[in-house]
This record gives sequence, C-alpha cells and structure tokens, in this order.
Amino acid sequence: MRFDDLRLHKPLLEAVRTAGYETPTPIQAKVIPLVLDGQDVLACAQTGTGKTAAFALPILQRLAASPAPKRSDRRRPRARHIRTLVLAPTRELAQQISDSFGTYGRFGGLKHTAVFGGVNKNPQTRTLRSGVDILVATPGRLLDHMADGVVQLDSIEVLVLDEADRMLDMGFMPDIRRILATIPKQRQTLLLSATMPRPIRELSNDILINPVSVEVARVSSAAETVEHWAYSVEKREKPSLLCSVLENTPYSRALVFTRTKYGADKVVRHLTRAGISADAIHGNKSQNARTRALAGFRSGKTGVLVATDIASRGLDIDDISHVINYDLTDEPETYVHRIGRTGRAGATGTALSFVSSEDHGNLRAIERLIRTPLQPAADLPGYVAPKVAVVQAERPARTDSRRNGDTNRQGHRPANKNGAHRGPRRSRRGPRSAVANR
Ligand code: AMP
Repeated sequence: MRFDDLRLHKPLLEAVRTAGYETPTPIQAKVIPLVLDGQDVLACAQTGTGKTAAFALPILQRLAASPAPKRSDRRRPRARHIRTLVLAPTRELAQQISDSFGTYGRFGGLKHTAVFGGVNKNPQTRTLRSGVDILVATPGRLLDHMADGVVQLDSIEVLVLDEADRMLDMGFMPDIRRILATIPKQRQTLLLSATMPRPIRELSNDILINPVSVEVARVSSAAETVEHWAYSVEKREKPSLLCSVLENTPYSRALVFTRTKYGADKVVRHLTRAGISADAIHGNKSQNARTRALAGFRSGKTGVLVATDIASRGLDIDDISHVINYDLTDEPETYVHRIGRTGRAGATGTALSFVSSEDHGNLRAIERLIRTPLQPAADLPGYVAPKVAVVQAERPARTDSRRNGDTNRQGHRPANKNGAHRGPRRSRRGPRSAVANR
C-alpha cells in the first residue's frame, strides 16, 4: 500500500513526502479512506501507530474540498467558522496534534490552532477571534473560551476525540458531554482510544452513527518492536542502578518513568549530581518549564527526561532509544503506553524495568498483557548489577520526625554526598547481587 493509493490530493501527498513518510502505517491505510468517505470511525489505536495523520490527512482533504461559507456576522465579516474540533487530554498532545495539522496542511490554506490550560488565555482568544478552521483543545480550556463567548461550535463538521480513555481517566467526561451538547448532531465523528473500557464504549454508542470499528495494534501487541528487560533491584538500589545503567548504555534519548512527581524531581537531582543531563516533566511544573524540558530533550541537549505517566501522555518524540521504568506501574496498560514512546513507527527500542520485591505482582500482570516475559537484565550485553548503595547510617531528621523515610534521606543528602551515590561510578561491574537473580 502506498500513500498514492489512498485518494489523497497532491498537496497532502507532497506534505507526507516532505515529512519523510514512505508508506502508510496500518491505521492510516484503514482509516484514511473511511474518513474521506464521511464515515464515523471508532479506532482502537495508541500513540506511535501514526493515528494523528490517519485522521488529520483526510480531514484536511475534506475541508479543502468544500470551502466553508464566510460568516455573515457584520462585525467579523471575514471570520472563519470552526469546522473541525479535536479534543485531547493533555496540553502536549493538543499542541502536537495542532503541529501535525500544520505539517500535513502546509500546502493548503486552512488555519489551525491549539488551546489548552496552564498558559495565558489572551493570545488564544486573539487567534480564535481571528478565525480558525481546525481547533485542537483540551476540554477545560475550551469550556472557558466557550463561556467567554469566543468559541462557537455550531459549524462543526468533524469532531475527533483523541485518546478518549485517557480523557476518561483524567475525569474529563462531564466536560466532554457539555461540549458535545453544543455541537451539531449532523457531523462526522471519530473516536480514538488505546483501550475500550465500558464508559468509552457507551460514549461511542451515544455519539457515533453506524461507526466502522478499526483495530490496528491491540494494546497488548504494541510491544513487538521493543525488547523488554527486567532488573531485579531493591528500592534503595534504584538511584545508583539508574546511574550505572545510563553510564554503561549507549542511548540516544532515555525516558524514565517514576510513580510520583516528587520521585521524578528526586531522580533528576540524583542524575544531575552524577553528571548526567536530565530534566523532569510532570503536572507540578509550569507550562514554560514543561515546554523547556521537552525542547531540551527534543534537541538532544538533555539526554534523559524523567516523567510521570500523565505528563508523558502523547509525547511525540522521535528516536527515544530507551524507556526506563524506574517505578513499575500498577496498571499493565500503562506499561504499554510507556513503552509506546520507543520503538515508534517501526524503529526498535529497549524497555528496562526496575522490579523490586513488591513489584512481582505488577510484573506478572504486565507479562500476561503483553504475552511476553521480560527478560532478565543479567543477560544483557554490558549488564551492570545493581549494587547495594553505600548508604551511611541514617540518622533521623534533626527537626521533623513526621517525615517519611524518603524525605529523611533527602534531608540527609548533602551529608551523604561522599558515600551513597559514588559506588556505580567507581566500580562499574560489581559482583552480581543476589537480588539480580530472578
Ligand atoms: P502518532 O501515532 O500519530 O503519535 O505518530 C507517531 C509517529 O509516527 C510520529 O512521529 C509521526 O511523525 C510518525 N509517522 C506517522 N505516520 C508515519 C508514516 N506513514 N511513516 C513513518 N512515520 C510516520
């Protein structure tokens, strides 16, 4: 199958070529013709499959083929109608989708923009007032603009709900229902979701009309281009193991997942002290800090990005060679989302998971879902055994006995500088620890 076989017009084919795509991905081959035919689509697909182009290309073609009538509003005689609305769960994903419309629509004249929270509303308001054809939005900020009277959705021809399961997880369903109530019923609707829990199926029953279901790579089979390795490691050994692994592994970009925002910052501090360039992205960071962290990671200035799951959702960064699960996740599907950041669009990638004794249940659930056992990291070429960190005897924190153990350790860090984190750098191939045997 070639892009030329998909009935796409020349400007779009040109844009696809410029983007360097040679052949359509499976979801593109299936979804593009359906959208061109005006069908409603229910697609079970996750990031990394090329799903954005699968809906953006045919939407651009449909909008270009039927120019919208100009508004008759005398105050804004030339303002455009919003003709396509894409709802997405996170700021980063909204921006990426909007950028994709820019990439694929570069040879057409349609206007697109993204609106999301966490940044000043005024520039968004100005852009919206000047008129856009395609609006990509997170639900909360869209409702704000609607309340301000800046956005009218009465001319929507195509509605896309992207990563619907994540919007459900993030509690956006009531917002989405409120937005849906203002959109014309006569429209084309596309719903994309990595998983299909019952509320998403119910939503799709309510809003899609005779949809065609498309399933490209089930969430559990997305792992095929990725090698999965597991380190058996105790919790307190993780910081030094992470340094050793990064010092001994050739990686282009490594994305490290922690369970908490606090944990992400802590890992960054630890890596920075070890001379490894790292930054964090999580929900407590300002939008500017998140944008900076992403830009540094994209440009290669920062080799390691430490992220929490929500913040990482939808990150579209090419060439992530390693995903490191510093903390394993309780939800096996999240493992698949995480590793979906590597091995994208056919490239190969490596997933390394730090499995502590309390994680064995989670590990089994992941292995069941992806139907592949994680290989013991001891078999990795260049394997570095976790070492029991040389943690100096921990005194209780001087003043605050209510702090938990982690915080205490944190409080003691400066005093610990010469002991705890040097081990891996002095001795790269320590004896295999007993816990390394799974
Ligand atoms: P998505 O699943 O939409 O997040 O896309 C994942 C990545 O695949 C993005 O970096 C796209 O630029 C890239 N991509 C999309 N379609 C293709 C294609 N046909 N060939 C190669 N790469 C693609």
